Amino acid sequence: MIYTDTRDKSVKTDFRTAVMNGMNKATGGLYIPVEFPKLDSGFLNKTPVPNFREIALNMAKPYTKGEIPESDLISIINDAYPFQAPVKPLDHTSYVLELFHGPTCAFKDFGARFMARVMSYFNKDESSPLHILVATSGDTGSAVGSAFHNVPGLDVTILYPEGKISKIQEKQLSTFDGNVRALKVKGTFDDCQKLVKTAFTDESLRAKLRLSSANSINISRLLPQSFYYMYSSLVVKERAWGDSKIDDPAIIAVVPSGNFGNLTSGLIAREMGAPITGFVAATNTNRTIPDWIATGKYNARPSVATYANAMDVGAPSNYERIAAMYSLDQVRQLFASYWLDDDGIIKSIRHCYEKTGYTIDPHGSVGWKAWYDIKTGAMKKLVDGEKNDISKPGLTPSIPAWAKRVVDNQAVGIILETAHPAKFGDTVKEATGQSPVLPDRLEEVMKKEDKAISMENNYDMFKEWLLANLKA
Ligand SMILES: *Cc1c(COP(=O)(O)O)cnc(C)c1O
Repeated sequence: MIYTDTRDKSVKTDFRTAVMNGMNKATGGLYIPVEFPKLDSGFLNKTPVPNFREIALNMAKPYTKGEIPESDLISIINDAYPFQAPVKPLDHTSYVLELFHGPTCAFKDFGARFMARVMSYFNKDESSPLHILVATSGDTGSAVGSAFHNVPGLDVTILYPEGKISKIQEKQLSTFDGNVRALKVKGTFDDCQKLVKTAFTDESLRAKLRLSSANSINISRLLPQSFYYMYSSLVVKERAWGDSKIDDPAIIAVVPSGNFGNLTSGLIAREMGAPITGFVAATNTNRTIPDWIATGKYNARPSVATYANAMDVGAPSNYERIAAMYSLDQVRQLFASYWLDDDGIIKSIRHCYEKTGYTIDPHGSVGWKAWYDIKTGAMKKLVDGEKNDISKPGLTPSIPAWAKRVVDNQAVGIILETAHPAKFGDTVKEATGQSPVLPDRLEEVMKKEDKAISMENNYDMFKEWLLANLKA
């Protein structure tokens, strides 16, 4: 596969370069495959639906062809995904796709685990380790730490702001041993990010240590997230008639979004033949994308803290990929968008619990309420000309091509549940009165010894520490 760049279509490179560089320093653009090949119809129409790993292999093949032999790709996939992505019905026309069965209980495991193994594969002939530096405000650090733990040839240093992340998050990223460690920095997330960015531009440091990032803009985190869209849409296509008595329903993927990496992966799956008719971009108060869809103007802004904090992004980095893949008009045909404030998030967790008995996390709750409102009247109102004000929570006033299918009760929704509710136990308890039970793997991590190392917010001290402690 040839990879190009969102800012310069004359760029042509391979998968290895795209993965190891993360972004194109020369242009500031993001790497993107020149095409998204459609899976053959024999495979797409197989019954029963192939299992998750088989789908993953068939989707990953064209992007790695000529660079990773199939037998190695199979090992990478088997090692990355010892867990499933179950699809569960919530009611006759709503399904939840549970993406929290990985080790850190959030969907980022799907992307980070594939990326770690691909980087290790590309690093295997090097004589020195590749050092990954990550600054985190919480969730990315644990997904990356866990994904790279004990992966040969790779070494990870996580920086987080001391006292500014939750207890579970801190345990999840500070209790590793071996090739993964955490530094608690006396400063903010921005300070952590600055230390990492300064290290990347420090030539004297880079002459001694091979450095890389594990950023969410890396194409090797994005491609594997498309696997579960394909899997879940094929599963829903197969079972929807039995559940809903709708013949060949439009399938709508409802995606709680922050940086819009997850949703971009959904677009890739659709290009590759996933039976997905449209998407709902579901956000919190950080409504940069809903506003763009409504007004046609893209206005990045500072992020605002909410209960769905993994979606607190005011300048979503994958906007650039979406805008490179589609025109604004095409985006408006494909997407509906919907947002909620914190009060709406609490009410939605409660609403889902009362309607279905299902305990949903704050991120997924926006998806649940978006789909519920859309199918029970919000889309009909919009089609009938009654527009919601864009500055108020709810459905954004832009009508997608699939609106009529929903109004005619010919659609089913797949809500992506991006995290386990126990990761946000306090918020869920406020909404439902019940504390969600911690899964065993979170319970285990809470018992582990905290090994974080204190670090001043000072670049010279940080650099000295790196040189004294990391293996060249
Ligand atoms: C990261 C994250 C999101 C947002 O995903 P994007 O790909 O950044 O849009 C949503 N929910 C949870 C729980 C997350 O960790």
